[in-house]
Amino acid sequence: MATSPSRRLDQLIQALQRLPGVGVRSASRMAYHLLQHDRNGAEQLAQALLAACEGIRHCALCHTFSDEEVCPTCADPSRDAGLLCVVESPADQAALERTGAYRGRYFVLMGRLRPLDGIGPDDIGVRPLLERLQTPPPVREVILATSFTAEGEATAHVVARLAQTLGLKVTRLARGVPVGSELEYVDPGTIAHALADRR
Ligand code: ZN
Repeated sequence: MATSPSRRLDQLIQALQRLPGVGVRSASRMAYHLLQHDRNGAEQLAQALLAACEGIRHCALCHTFSDEEVCPTCADPSRDAGLLCVVESPADQAALERTGAYRGRYFVLMGRLRPLDGIGPDDIGVRPLLERLQTPPPVREVILATSFTAEGEATAHVVARLAQTLGLKVTRLARGVPVGSELEYVDPGTIAHALADRR
């Protein structure tokens, strides 16, 4: 706990420690920097935080952060509403979008199952996903694009079971050797999966 001659400074340092990975020392450095060198920036930061908290919600269809009831991606009529790609985060969605290879819709879970940290299905967007799958526009294929980690696989498993009980087709992103890589330098797990998933 920081103790300075200013109660307001202590409160600021405490508030900054809410950020992931920020302890008391970095929080203090941030507070001193903002107050000493960048008061304009500090005010911009405060206003952006307030505006974000007041104005950003979850898209009613895909659950990602959105200024509107329905986000621009879900509102785009040229996208195939029958394909629903399930991702963990807006960053993962952006990575898929950058390929330009996918023209379906998304569902963003906003996390993945982390049983060891007590993060279960109710802590990520599994319930909104179930609602999404049961309401129009109808989905014909659910594409699982969660991470290829133990947690990502567990999340994919739960989503797959959910979609299968609704009679939907479920597919998973293929695991393969990265484009441009030499086999010699690829880890054995990836080579094994690529071999198993060969086509
Ligand atoms: Zn959306």
